[in-house]
Amino acid sequence: MQDGLTARFDELLARENERSFMVYRDFVYPEDLVGSDVAFLPSPLTRGLPPEGILSWFSFDISQGIGAEFSIFAGEHKQLPDSKTLANKLKRSVQELIVHDVQEGFQKRITRYGGLHISSVPLSLAVINFSHERDHSCLRAQLPSLRRLDDEAVDVHRYSFHVRFYRGADGTPRVVATRVILIDKVELLRGMPTCYSNLAEGALIHQGFFIDPEWLFGALPEEVAKQSLRQPEAFHPQGAALVESGETLVHTLYPVELLEIEVERPRDAEYGRFQISLSSAALRARQASQNWRLVAVACMLLLSLATGMVLLLRSVAVELEQARRTEDFVAAVTHELRTPIATIRLHGEMLRDGWVTTDNKRDEYHGRIVDETQRLEAMVERVLEKSRLSSSPPNPEPGDLNEVLRVLMSEEIAARDGVQLELAEGLGAVLMNRDGLRSIVTNLLENARKYGSREDGPREATLLCTCTRDGQPCLEVLDRGPGIPDRDKQRIFEAFFRRSDATTRGERGTGLGLHLVKIQAQAMDGDAQVLDRPGGGSIFRVTLRRADTAKS
Ligand code: ADP
Repeated sequence: MQDGLTARFDELLARENERSFMVYRDFVYPEDLVGSDVAFLPSPLTRGLPPEGILSWFSFDISQGIGAEFSIFAGEHKQLPDSKTLANKLKRSVQELIVHDVQEGFQKRITRYGGLHISSVPLSLAVINFSHERDHSCLRAQLPSLRRLDDEAVDVHRYSFHVRFYRGADGTPRVVATRVILIDKVELLRGMPTCYSNLAEGALIHQGFFIDPEWLFGALPEEVAKQSLRQPEAFHPQGAALVESGETLVHTLYPVELLEIEVERPRDAEYGRFQISLSSAALRARQASQNWRLVAVACMLLLSLATGMVLLLRSVAVELEQARRTEDFVAAVTHELRTPIATIRLHGEMLRDGWVTTDNKRDEYHGRIVDETQRLEAMVERVLEKSRLSSSPPNPEPGDLNEVLRVLMSEEIAARDGVQLELAEGLGAVLMNRDGLRSIVTNLLENARKYGSREDGPREATLLCTCTRDGQPCLEVLDRGPGIPDRDKQRIFEAFFRRSDATTRGERGTGLGLHLVKIQAQAMDGDAQVLDRPGGGSIFRVTLRRADTAKS
């Protein structure tokens, strides 16, 4: 509120400070005519209505003393119905002001002015605009004598407007802004025609304007209050009953003091007092609602922070898990590679250096070298198979599942020993690819060989069978091993996942076998899962798709 009021008041003063000091007369000699002609335009102070807050402008030469001549400009106020009363009032006000300032003494008054501004003005412009001559014909007729001063200039000292509050003779409050214009004696003008000569002695001119107290202490605060106060703040204008503090917070403002207006009597500093009130209950309610808003915002912030953290941690955990698996894989592959390589090297060196003397031993060592080389080859194949499948999966084609399994089992599959084949009839044409099926069967039988029996359990053949489940053809491998706990039933199909369980820890592997089973099954538009086998052990089921139900 204070800032709004000060800003509006300063705006008014700044606008008036900008106004040329040469327009404080009825007719003005315009600057662009210097050196050519003498013509006069009506002053802007005599046209239109004065701006909001200004009653009238005036000007007088204080060096003339108490009876100094003065001019009043009130725009077109003169045309208003009560213009006569207004004109008289203004006249009285200016006369009072002259008397006051003369009595106070110029030396004292000048100390109150600030913002001195010195400008250099073409001499002919100043001479005409400060001439007391009202008869333009004299000014025109004597123009040639001014010509020789066309290139001369004069320094004009101008102070900024200073505002004071005082009471008229009848006690009426008055607010007036005045400034002083000082021009030193101009010797060059001595001997000039009389209508041009009055600046020869210099000038000490007071210019100013009356500010409407009703605007300054009434309309303006009201307008600013409307713009700056918010419910439940209430504005109590000048003259309204004083608000009691207690249950209400009251802020009392003194515009005269706030706007740094000079006063004659100290108690006039309180003139125009207005108040702003805010009931404590309303304040408390507002504070409570603000608190709630704050709490809600804080909660939302916390919530989004927590969600962000959870998402971040989750993604970090996933990344870490991925990194851990890749690390495990590299470690497993390295381990798997290192052992056969070391065996091959050891046996090769022993053969080369002649450590093996008998033919039997030599054959045995050759055999080991070949076996280890085959293991190495198989492992490299798995890694390549995974990478091939992810980059270019083959298209499945209709075929006879039972027939393919029969052929596979008659071939050299390392883990086929101890496997019983049970094939169901009526499977129909199955969507498949042979290399994929070979990989699935080899991996599942290999796992059944590695993990599919328990030391303490009965020795039982692994079952490789085909069947129909929910109308779709399946192949299943059933063993009597330790089974897979529920928590790992999904994860064992993830790449590089190996269970660290005691039953499986002793076996070598890469964690890629079941992953290959899954992605091979998916490449045939099927899927792979593990189930508990009644009586103990696991059922690895690969569900395929009948060719006649294939997606187009
Ligand atoms: P690898 O055999 O190279 O470790 P797999 O992907 O073939 O990798 O198997 C992943 C894990 O699943 C194995 O480490 C093992 O713990 C478990 N697993 C696989 N087959 C069986 C099974 N028939 N019985 C019990 N556990 C098994």
